[in-house]
Amino acid sequence: MGFDDLHYGNMDFGLTQDDFNSKFYVPAANDCMRCGLCLSSCPTYSLFQIEAETPRQRIRTIDKFLNDNQPITTEERKHLDNCLQCWACEPVCPSKMAYGALFDETQRQLARPLSLLAKLAFWLIAHKRCRKMLMPLLALYLKSGIQKPLRKSGFLKKLNLAEAEALLIKPALEILKAHYPSKCRETCGQVGLFTGCLTDHFDRVTLNAAIELLTAIGYEVMVPSKQSCCGAIHQHNGQPADQLIANNIDVYNDLNLDAVIFTATGCGAMLSEYHTFDNPGAITFCDKLIDVNDFLLNNWPEEIKLKPTNLKVAVHEPCNQRNVLKNQQAVYKLLEKIPGLTVVPLADNHLCCGAGGSYMLTHPENATELRVKRLNSIYATEADKLTTSNFGCSLFLNNMGLTIEHPIKLLSVQLQ
Ligand code: SF4
Ligand code: SF4
Repeated sequence: MGFDDLHYGNMDFGLTQDDFNSKFYVPAANDCMRCGLCLSSCPTYSLFQIEAETPRQRIRTIDKFLNDNQPITTEERKHLDNCLQCWACEPVCPSKMAYGALFDETQRQLARPLSLLAKLAFWLIAHKRCRKMLMPLLALYLKSGIQKPLRKSGFLKKLNLAEAEALLIKPALEILKAHYPSKCRETCGQVGLFTGCLTDHFDRVTLNAAIELLTAIGYEVMVPSKQSCCGAIHQHNGQPADQLIANNIDVYNDLNLDAVIFTATGCGAMLSEYHTFDNPGAITFCDKLIDVNDFLLNNWPEEIKLKPTNLKVAVHEPCNQRNVLKNQQAVYKLLEKIPGLTVVPLADNHLCCGAGGSYMLTHPENATELRVKRLNSIYATEADKLTTSNFGCSLFLNNMGLTIEHPIKLLSVQLQ
């Protein structure tokens, strides 16, 4: 059992972080037994089939660096960088190696100076108002017809922007309201919706579905305009995320809500780890934090029935949902509420699809190979649609013309 299990999903066993650290053993990097049980879960090992691309070899490199204060060679650095940070090696490890925490610490200490472009990207992610100002320009660019000639010119490649540009989709330009009243006569409570940075602009469909369902089952929904990015992209690239974290904790704690709800599991995994940061409001925040799938499942009123359908849906389980939040079963249980819907899991759900946060941009060749594997398993299901609770995976897999929706979008369409 980890500290996450003690606090995630409105569960509070009354332990503080200090209590936890003193009661539970936290393995060090040199505690890896090298048993190899993690190998079959590691996407980079599945691609390269070499020891250097295994979790245990990465842990050995981390041990050398963190515990023995030895420098890391260029080759070792390359293999560390190839890690998708999917954390699939954690739940299968008999030694309970906290690979993610060890990796993050190593990343932090090894952080390279940022390029101008990377600095701009991190700055934009952190500054909501400027991001918003950029969206009409993006929409204009997508409409203008200059996309094709610009791609052909090779200019985007020169600027290292080709991968990011290929993923662009139409952004939402309208601003979400700060408050959505309950649609029921009696209000059950007040919840806050975490919109994230990219989902706010590019996955409005899911956010609107969340608002529709939450208000339909009797909740008032608050969308605080001062919320910021969860900090995941900064954290996983060795950049400081403390200000973003502190801001979110203050903004949501000030509202004294019944729950703080997220729709993208990539954001949710980061938000659920706020308690590991030194912030006095973090435990209160984490106690209220919950995935929209869990919230709807736990609070769905018996009297609300959904329309039947004869669709078949394949479920993609994002790594952050399987390995950090560990709540992927909520999706299957929630979809059972739609009469007639056939739901099938993907055969290789235990392996990352290649998206890996910003990995799809930094390691496009590896990411594409993993995506091809995932697409083959999706097509093998012969499903009408794919569902995933993480916008990053959806964006990455969407390239191939699949119909991909968040589970709650499927539910909202079936509301009577
Ligand atoms: S499963 Fe755990 S103990 Fe075994 S090799 Fe992998 S990291 Fe080491
Ligand atoms: S986090 Fe994922 S890619 Fe990295 S070592 Fe673990 S299983 Fe492999």
